[in-house]
Amino acid sequence: MRLSRYFLPVLKETPAEAQIVSHRLMLRAGMIKQASAGIYSWLPLGFKVLRKIENIVHEEQARAGHIPMLMPTLQPADLWRKSGRYDAYGPEMLRVSDRHDREMLYGPTNEEMITDIVANYVTSYKTLPLTLYHVQWKFRDEVRPRFGVMRGREFLMKDGYNFDLTKEDALHAYNRHLVSYLRTYERMGLRAIPMRADSGPIGGDYTHEFLVLADTGESEVFYDSEVTDLTFGDREIDFDDKAQCAAVLEEFTSRYARTDETHDAAAFNALPEERRRTARGIEVGQIFYFGTEYSEKMGAVVQNEDGARVPLHMGSHGIGVSRLLGAIIEASHDDKGIIWPEGVTPFHAGIVNLKQGDAEADAACEALYKAMEAHGMEPLYDDRNERAGGKFASMDLIGLPWRITVGPRGLKNGVVELTSRRSGESEEMPPEAAIEKLV
Ligand code: ATP
Ligand code: MG
Ligand code: MG
Ligand code: MG
Repeated sequence: MRLSRYFLPVLKETPAEAQIVSHRLMLRAGMIKQASAGIYSWLPLGFKVLRKIENIVHEEQARAGHIPMLMPTLQPADLWRKSGRYDAYGPEMLRVSDRHDREMLYGPTNEEMITDIVANYVTSYKTLPLTLYHVQWKFRDEVRPRFGVMRGREFLMKDGYNFDLTKEDALHAYNRHLVSYLRTYERMGLRAIPMRADSGPIGGDYTHEFLVLADTGESEVFYDSEVTDLTFGDREIDFDDKAQCAAVLEEFTSRYARTDETHDAAAFNALPEERRRTARGIEVGQIFYFGTEYSEKMGAVVQNEDGARVPLHMGSHGIGVSRLLGAIIEASHDDKGIIWPEGVTPFHAGIVNLKQGDAEADAACEALYKAMEAHGMEPLYDDRNERAGGKFASMDLIGLPWRITVGPRGLKNGVVELTSRRSGESEEMPPEAAIEKLV
């Protein structure tokens, strides 16, 4: 992309309404624009990162064998009357009626709709196990929308639902989700710690929230410092292997790590003092096994091998796709701007032309641009007729991992400068060598 043709409305001023750094940086970097409280337009740069995050989610769901689909944002109230949640949900639900006075709502989640679909089509245990998911906009009329996309009213969520014949199978689905989420967040450059969360009236310890540690997080968390040493890495997993998935769950959840809702001071204090940590965290996902509650109410019943009709065991599993942008920036920035992890960066590298209009500099930039594209990379070429200082400031703000600086002086010696956004270190080298380093 050539910056002269792009739409990147970078702000010079720090927006007064933004209280936390990720919100400030997203506004300044021209990624989002507020449409009304908690509702945002995703400008091209923000939209690009949102799609990257969404793609990682899809890739990792595919790896786990989960099946993508798409359900609508608007749902009929009657579905929610069946589950009993229409009245229970309260003022967070946005209720609307259509021209025929039919009651509708903008979905805050999709348990009812997906269970209704499965109830309609699945009649035999032979269709199981089944995990369906979608990435779709949700609406929750939050009392206090704030922190930009972190607590929006309209937000993008991946929500998946497993349907299994037995509790044991459903718990395998639970474990599978935990494993796939670990890998999903790591690919985004995040350390998201699974923490035991509150399972509400259902009880049991079958829910974990994934938390990214950050001072601006809204949850208070308590954990054993050893959990921050765990990484999933690129280990091979057979997602059909129950024992293997269960072992990963055990590895990542056996140490103390809880949100304030489930915090057990006695168990926490039993840890050696130097390992006890209290911090704040951002909830970027949650997994849940809840048994047959919805399938009984919505009629998701199948015939088992003995011909008996049994309700399906279910769980639901969510990732806060749009919230993740805020979480990633909270975890990765400096005083100049965002520092994108390679996995989610909107462009792979920026090219800064120090002297636009200089025939040699222009030609060198064009050649770099084409070479990067030929290698399957997406460069952002700052080809505007602006001062170098302004170009550098914009590049630092939008946070691409690499910058290639091209100017007449360097070109006389056959070199360009390659700068790492994260370390700030620069190195001079021939253009071909810079490309080599990036591929
Ligand atoms: P929170 O505790 O932050 O209100 P939640 O527990 O109500 O979140 P879930 O129902 O578990 O949310 O939804 C799954 C994921 O969707 C959450 O883990 C979070 O990452 C994201 N999410 C929830 N509410 C919002 C929101 N208002 N804005 C952006 N993302 C959200
Ligand atoms: Mg909530
Ligand atoms: Mg929560
Ligand atoms: Mg939650």
